[in-house]
Amino acid sequence: MIYPWLESAWQAVLAQRDRSHHALLVHGPAGIGKSDFAAELASAWLCESPAADGSACGRCAACGWIAHDSHPDLRVLSPAVEEAAEGAEGAPRTGRASAASTDIRIDQVRALERFVGVGGHRGGCKVVRIDPADALNVAAANALLKTLEEPGAGTRFLLVTHRPDALPATIRSRCLAVPLPLPAPAAAIDWLVAQTGAERAQAAQWLAAAGGAPLRARAFADPATASTHRLVVETLSSLPETPVVRAADALAGIEPSLWVGTLQSWIADLQRCRVGAEPRFFPERAARLRTLSQQTSLPALDRLACGIATLARAVDHPLNPRLMLEDALLRVRAAWAG
Ligand SMILES: [Zn+2]
Repeated sequence: MIYPWLESAWQAVLAQRDRSHHALLVHGPAGIGKSDFAAELASAWLCESPAADGSACGRCAACGWIAHDSHPDLRVLSPAVEEAAEGAEGAPRTGRASAASTDIRIDQVRALERFVGVGGHRGGCKVVRIDPADALNVAAANALLKTLEEPGAGTRFLLVTHRPDALPATIRSRCLAVPLPLPAPAAAIDWLVAQTGAERAQAAQWLAAAGGAPLRARAFADPATASTHRLVVETLSSLPETPVVRAADALAGIEPSLWVGTLQSWIADLQRCRVGAEPRFFPERAARLRTLSQQTSLPALDRLACGIATLARAVDHPLNPRLMLEDALLRVRAAWAG
């Protein structure tokens, strides 16, 4: 589905249907609907009876196969597919296997060579969608480069990422960038209210905590997600006074990817308050953020942000989640120790 804030980008890309570059790099902030956008675009390209504006009809044979993940001229590369396939085969989920599943691997890219080399089954184009493209590991990215340089006739690529800088420049330079925007806050709040039935003030708070990304904000409407988020924010807000062990007990059992993202937003707000700006993610806690920011220094906050960014890189496969949590909390306390 195409979200309202992506409608003008959608119409622009559809207008290019037959003249477009063979490889598009769809990028923009996380949580705005890029994956849905790319999936819709693949459908539009493969649809055998598209609507007047070029979007997919949803009724032809091609649209039917896409709905059942069985279109012979569509390949989707993503780590999740790989992980699901491993699970289906009953492979043991060791730490190593789940670490590997965050990557798109070279064997997945090599499997494309044959797909790209033969003609389309339906006489139209073939589409390769890679999502998220930043999951390509180095070997896979190098293998893909060859295919991107000499694509088979009628093959189109859709790469999706919220971290275009994480892609090799050689890949980026072979793609046409399609930047997708965050919506204006008022429009995003309208949408959240319509989707969730929440009060506007509540929707505004969710949207801020999600950095303005409406799909991330909508996740807060789920009571379990909302209460986990509240616990993380309250615990962070109680630092540095709360002892590390007690804070770690409070957050034990929460997925590292959840608390790390919130901690990074919290530190970003502290940095903003330290230089006299308004908090972006937690405006409802502005008073506490200002007080805390005055009790430390900007270099200490910068060091903390760098330290947590380093931890965040291991967030999908931490060796020991509890140690990672305590490490992060010790770093937070250290920022107020000096
Ligand atoms: Zn169709």
